[in-house]
Amino acid sequence: MVGCGATGTCVASLLARAGVGHLKIIDRDYVEPSNLQRQSLFDEADAADSLPKAVAAARKIAAFNSEVEVSAEVADLTPENAEPLLSSADLVLDATDNFETRYLINDFAVKTGRPWIYAAAVAAYAVTMNIIPGETACLSCVFPAPPEGMVETCDTAGILNSAVNLVGSIEATEAIKFLVGAQAKLRRTLLSFDVWGNEQAEISAAKPRAGCQTCQQHDFVHLAGARRPQITMCGRNSVQIHERNRPVDFSEMRSRLEPHGTVKHNDFVLKFWREPYELTLFPDGRAIIKGTTDTAIARSLYARYIGS
Ligand SMILES: [Zn+2]
Repeated sequence: MVGCGATGTCVASLLARAGVGHLKIIDRDYVEPSNLQRQSLFDEADAADSLPKAVAAARKIAAFNSEVEVSAEVADLTPENAEPLLSSADLVLDATDNFETRYLINDFAVKTGRPWIYAAAVAAYAVTMNIIPGETACLSCVFPAPPEGMVETCDTAGILNSAVNLVGSIEATEAIKFLVGAQAKLRRTLLSFDVWGNEQAEISAAKPRAGCQTCQQHDFVHLAGARRPQITMCGRNSVQIHERNRPVDFSEMRSRLEPHGTVKHNDFVLKFWREPYELTLFPDGRAIIKGTTDTAIARSLYARYIGS
């Protein structure tokens, strides 16, 4: 399972209680008080201790089903570590909060013929799809390019905890079907819900899209790192993220970020303070994050507050 936030805690809890044999949980973040509204495996003590989410999840699982073998990987999934982290998995579960990592999972899964399940939730919207390489469409078939420009995230738009539990339940169900060998029962559609607006949609994803760069042309650009925003260390205690193609509307960004910290901007730069970090954002999406030298934390802050 890649990511252990809202979707991840729901899926990990369901699968571990169901008795899945081995669960590897990969997550780069630490539990914070603001997570508790939706991340159902964690509690106030985990947040007070700033426990890594993967570690906190493994401890909680051990307390209710000690027979499940859980390995906690406190790591950021990257093109460099995808092979060692994912190659032992029968099935990869997406519980990330960003498209960059999802495309990386998709590249790895298609290249190695390994099934994975895409799942995402933001605000009241939830979406999921099973990807069975060689059979169904892949993520790039359905979404040929990552969303550009302003993208809402769970930290800016919020998230209804019931929406995430809905998509987590579906993802866990599909995972159990796969793990018990009920392949014929696996759903072959892109399924989405707006639980607040009472809308749902389902489109067929049973067949790959002709010409798909990933599953038809086998051009694994995300695994090669070509699409990855370049990250550099930038002076003492700061990290620079060189995003491309993410024009930022500062006044819109300001109103999104204001509930989460102090924001100031002029025409050239936006500054956002959220203790202990200071994020400086430029109109083309480039950012400098002060307060850390850990690129995983910088990437995580960027994904949470600016978009992925
Ligand atoms: Zn494809």
